[in-house]
Amino acid sequence: MSPGPGPLDGGGGPPLLTRPPAPRPASSHAPGDGPWWLVPAVGLPLLLVVVLVAVLGVGIRPQRSPLSGAGDPYFPQAGAGGYDALSYLIDLTVEGPVLAGSTTVTARATQDLDVVHLDLGLPVTAATVDGEPALVETVDGTDLRVEPADGIEAGQEFVVRVDYAGDPGEVSVPGVAEDQSPLHRQGEELGIAGEPASSAWWFPADDHPSDPALMEVRVRVPRGVEVISVGELVDRDAGDEEDWDTWHWRAREPMATYLNFLMVGQYRLEQGTVSGRPYVYAVSERFSPEQQTDLLGELAETPQWIAELETDLGPYPFSEMGGVVPPFSFWFGGLETQTRPIYLGRALAADGHADTLMVHELAHMWFGDAVTLSRWDDIFNNEGWASYLQWVVTERRGGPTTNQQMVATYEQLADDPGFWAVPLDDPGPQRIFATVYERGPMALQALRNLIGEEAFTTLMRDWAQQRGARSVEDFLDRARATTDVDLDPWYQAWFRGTTAPERTPENGFGA
Ligand SMILES: [Zn+2]
Repeated sequence: MSPGPGPLDGGGGPPLLTRPPAPRPASSHAPGDGPWWLVPAVGLPLLLVVVLVAVLGVGIRPQRSPLSGAGDPYFPQAGAGGYDALSYLIDLTVEGPVLAGSTTVTARATQDLDVVHLDLGLPVTAATVDGEPALVETVDGTDLRVEPADGIEAGQEFVVRVDYAGDPGEVSVPGVAEDQSPLHRQGEELGIAGEPASSAWWFPADDHPSDPALMEVRVRVPRGVEVISVGELVDRDAGDEEDWDTWHWRAREPMATYLNFLMVGQYRLEQGTVSGRPYVYAVSERFSPEQQTDLLGELAETPQWIAELETDLGPYPFSEMGGVVPPFSFWFGGLETQTRPIYLGRALAADGHADTLMVHELAHMWFGDAVTLSRWDDIFNNEGWASYLQWVVTERRGGPTTNQQMVATYEQLADDPGFWAVPLDDPGPQRIFATVYERGPMALQALRNLIGEEAFTTLMRDWAQQRGARSVEDFLDRARATTDVDLDPWYQAWFRGTTAPERTPENGFGA
């Protein structure tokens, strides 16, 4: 993710180094917080569930199980335990404000399971496990509890299908502030994209970055409406049904749930193949025809930026590429949705802003998308690197060196105690994006100064090329393995410390 470009003036935004506004505390309100009898729309289905559960002899409303979350310290309800998601097939119809359809999740149990937990905020109508009807209910707003007729054994592969329908405008997820909602609407236009959470607004999932899986998205819309998502555009239909089209997107490499997205509306598409990779660029037709042409022109630079980043990071990790510019005023400047980053229109159009914005989001294809987070407090692994690659490209284009950029950033922030008060390795759930865009790349340049050019280059490339979920501790272990230099002072100063690091060689300030 990139911070937004500043005022809503449509252009001339400040560079990406601008710090985003401090996120507000999350709203504590969630559906189901209040007594259900005061909320008729929620109360009646809940009453039915209670009655159904009583009839089935289960007795009391079940308590939250340890498996109802992935164990994330910042978002304890996010994700699930007990299985490894392998693939999602999301199959929806969008009609007016309502999404209706099913998602089929294929997973492998990592322990014996009586209940499979998923995260979804939309109302569920039915579920099956391996084709057999299963008991299903939603607890605490988004914890979907699917109970198969027969238990699932450790190691067993199983298929959960969930049928659901509802208005994503009714969804609220604990820990996600209302002004950072992933749901975007403007007239008939619909968009769902955001970080750290977005999937609960449109599909049931193990919603945690540590469990990436294959994604396939099929969305049926009235003919004339476009649907944009991740991966390859397999089909845009215009077939049997006279008034409806089903858009089919498929990504061939696993992705974290928040890296999938859905855009529905009027879009101008450009498609083709470069270097053997299919691309799709999409720009909202809510922009003027001239703006559309300009924005498509920026998106068309994508293969060139990828080729340049490959010289630093090794081969691009995905089969497809692209970019999308929706009509919405996102609270972010860009988001690294896998294979197809989302850009804020006025950020991409701002003079001098497009290059660094695209480099940042495309660098995330390696750092964040191929290498995912173990936990949300590992956000440095995403944003530190994506921001650092902006510095690398800036230097290569004749700008200040990465070290000069580190020193300038440090001098700009040295007297800002609020900035340093947020530790890089534990920023807190409300401040995961608060300082990492500057503190992250400074820490990396300090490391480069300490361990030297060759070790740093190898470390960066090896880290970028090995897929999977890893933590800041994993990165520290890798860094230590490359060098005889004592990295403890560096780690203390840049990751743990709550004051500006002393300007010493041990902290990685070069000559
Ligand atoms: Zn980012």
